Amino acid sequence: MKTIPQPHNRMNVLSLLRHILPFVLPYRRLVVLTLTLTLVGSLLAQVNAVVLDRAVDAINALIQTNFTWTQATRILLLISAILLGKELVAAIVTFFQRYFGERMRIFVSRDMSLKVVERMLTFRMAFFTQEENETGKLQSRIDQGVRSMSNTVNNFFIEILPLFTSALLALVLMFLANVYVGLVALFIVPIYFYVTHLQALKMKGGRRSIFASHQAVSQSILSIIESISVIKSFNREGIEADRQADIQCTMTEQQLSTRQQSYMWSGLKSFLEQIGTVLIIILTAYLVLTDYPGMSIGKIMYHVMLFANVSAPIRQLHRIYDDMNDALIYAEGFFGILHATEEVEHSGAYHPETIRGDFELTHVDFAYSNGTQALTDVSMHIRAGKITALVGLSGAGKSTVVNLLDKFYQPQHGTIKLDGADLDKWDTTWLREHIGLVLQKNHIFAGTIEENIRYGNPHATREQVEEAARKAYIYDQIVALPQGFAASALQLSGGQQQRIAIARMFLKNPPIIFLDEPTASLDAIATEQIKASIDAIKQGRTVIIISHNIGQIIDADDIYVLQQGRVVQAGSPEEVYRQGGIYKEIFDASARSMNADKIAHTLSEG
Ligand code: ADP
Repeated sequence: MKTIPQPHNRMNVLSLLRHILPFVLPYRRLVVLTLTLTLVGSLLAQVNAVVLDRAVDAINALIQTNFTWTQATRILLLISAILLGKELVAAIVTFFQRYFGERMRIFVSRDMSLKVVERMLTFRMAFFTQEENETGKLQSRIDQGVRSMSNTVNNFFIEILPLFTSALLALVLMFLANVYVGLVALFIVPIYFYVTHLQALKMKGGRRSIFASHQAVSQSILSIIESISVIKSFNREGIEADRQADIQCTMTEQQLSTRQQSYMWSGLKSFLEQIGTVLIIILTAYLVLTDYPGMSIGKIMYHVMLFANVSAPIRQLHRIYDDMNDALIYAEGFFGILHATEEVEHSGAYHPETIRGDFELTHVDFAYSNGTQALTDVSMHIRAGKITALVGLSGAGKSTVVNLLDKFYQPQHGTIKLDGADLDKWDTTWLREHIGLVLQKNHIFAGTIEENIRYGNPHATREQVEEAARKAYIYDQIVALPQGFAASALQLSGGQQQRIAIARMFLKNPPIIFLDEPTASLDAIATEQIKASIDAIKQGRTVIIISHNIGQIIDADDIYVLQQGRVVQAGSPEEVYRQGGIYKEIFDASARSMNADKIAHTLSEG
């Protein structure tokens, strides 16, 4: 079950708004427009109260006299015209206010997403492999962050600001009409605030557990889909269904209890609001009955309506409070990513015209951020223009070496030099421009085959793309597809995808190439086809190959054998084999697992 981010002490409403401000500032004009409309809207919100006050008094005065229907009709027409006219203007004002508020939310949301992604792309590799940044977690942090932050902007301009301005205005009008009435309203407001605050506090736990249950439900459905073949093969459908029922039951109980609480609180708040209204009516009626100066029967209506405006935001307060709370929770995670300056990738300025590809590792120690010691006292010389194979069991540290050479991580001790210069001093972009990396999988993007190959060099011509495909021995298979180079690359087989990745590298044409188990997940035919493309690309370049395939290893010029993060053997393939040790064990075991004797026998028979 995913953990829910907890609000951080440092983030409060003020600092949240301060963090959001830079994203709103570019839209100053929209802000000013919205604020003006808010003021107009708040003024309009008081019109009903004023009109009804006057209307009641006017009609009251009329019925005391010997009135004519013409007089009465004139008054009624005037009231209707003002009320309808006001409603029309208010509708237009509200429309633009909402539209501008929403525009702002959409723009802010776009800018935040863009900014955070741009920022994240500059982060070092270690950031992405931290546990709290695993794919799903990072994505939901960004998603929730952007959503709740932009909702805050929207809430502020569409809900909070108009409601509170109107409430404040209504309160001022109440004071102007009568100090006592104003005081009663002013006295009731903090009570509402307090009750809402209590409600939010009491219901916070419920909201959190429902949120967690929702995540648990979706997670468990995902895990059923992922493991369906295991569930079925072990006949464990019943157990899974029971587990699902448990989670659902917990969630149902939580939802019911939260709803119950929520209805109770709204009942209490309505009752309190009604007490306020009753107090206002009694007080005003008393003042009217005692002939208090300026009081007339119309004032009862006037005060009640103004009071409704004062208490309107309080009815919404609970929701606003919840949204704000969410924003506070997610802001920390979101701005944590945006302001993580320590995560930005380091780059030097060294930028030589040509790169030979001679790597020298001296006494390198490296541990990942979770503490796994991946390399200990590793010294290696990767010769320029030669093929170096890294051999070892899984977890020996082979990929880690490649990660360090690509500057994805920095070693804690020891030095790594490329062409005599410290890797640290190298311009990272320039370095990577000259390194080609082919991994076991996960390097094909959604898109056409052509787009995927062109990733190696966005400025390549179509002819160059085709030439690269030819060199990677994949051209014929591409043109045989109905859509050719425009076909989706994801529909290709693993072996074909791998050759697309190699074609991409031909297009990039780097002097240094790292191949990290490029054929590990492929069948024999695909492996053989890829061997041909790899042999083609190796020519005249510095190549490091990590492979379990002895056929690929014995082609190397140099071999380094790693065991638990240490170099235990080094030399040419023949030398290393003669030394015995782990290399001979791996080599012999591979040959035995392939049943090499029988294969040789079968081949000779054939
Ligand atoms: P190999 O390529 O030889 O299979 P690796 O270099 O991938 O080995 O891994 C060396 C050790 O480092 C292993 O114990 C592995 O679990 C650990 N390791 C690899 N990548 C990470 C990572 N991103 N975070 C933490 N530990 C890692």
